[in-house]
Amino acid sequence: MQDYGSESERMEALYKKIYIESAKIIRNEVDKLKPDVNCRACTIPCDIQKPDIFSVFPPKCPYNNWQIKVISYLTNDYKSKLRVSKKSIMEKKKDYSCNKCGNCCKLAVSEFNPMQLKQRALRGDKYAKEFSAIYVPYESEEMAEAICPDFYNKLKELMNPNERLYFYYCSKLGADDLCSDYENRPDICKDFPLTALKILPDCCGYQPWHESVEKLAMSIKAREDLIAFYKNKIG
Ligand code: SF4
Ligand code: SF4
Repeated sequence: MQDYGSESERMEALYKKIYIESAKIIRNEVDKLKPDVNCRACTIPCDIQKPDIFSVFPPKCPYNNWQIKVISYLTNDYKSKLRVSKKSIMEKKKDYSCNKCGNCCKLAVSEFNPMQLKQRALRGDKYAKEFSAIYVPYESEEMAEAICPDFYNKLKELMNPNERLYFYYCSKLGADDLCSDYENRPDICKDFPLTALKILPDCCGYQPWHESVEKLAMSIKAREDLIAFYKNKIG
């Protein structure tokens, strides 16, 4: 069985590097929006020595407007650029196809248990609704591992170790490893994999696509995480 420990370390190190680079790029964009304010001439009571985007500025300080501009820029213009990049990644997916190995039907993973998925489906979550309609929970992790040992091992190694995982199989997979209801399969099957960072079985026909766009997909994720961070701090 393949050891995915080094793969996990590689991905972690790569994401860390990309996150640091992305943080510098975003910081540069933030600094470009900084207004030219003469603090020495300001009469508003204030203890700030070196104004920073994360400073808590007093009311009427012109730097408040900087924070508003930054949030507006990051959540509108910058996010639009990320959407274009995401679209280009999904366009590239069209160059690859499913080779009908059946692994994604035999083993699907979720951070939610069946009850949580049903609740989410009732609240209108389309993914949870489609997932709950076809996937059945394995009675035990041992059974999931026995059916797809390599993919199970890869998921366990590469997914967040602090997260509880629930394993499922599709009730519609035939004995020939093909979908028994192909014409009526839901969108989550038609569009699989839904994101470029999805962990795939090594034999999946989309694995080369995943590898070719991994850095760009990580860079988009890092920037989205950073935007959420800025929004949380100053939004
Ligand atoms: S794992 Fe990939 S190649 Fe295998 S059935 Fe699913 S989409 Fe197709
Ligand atoms: S509905 Fe068909 S394609 Fe979708 S997971 Fe089940 S067997 Fe696979």
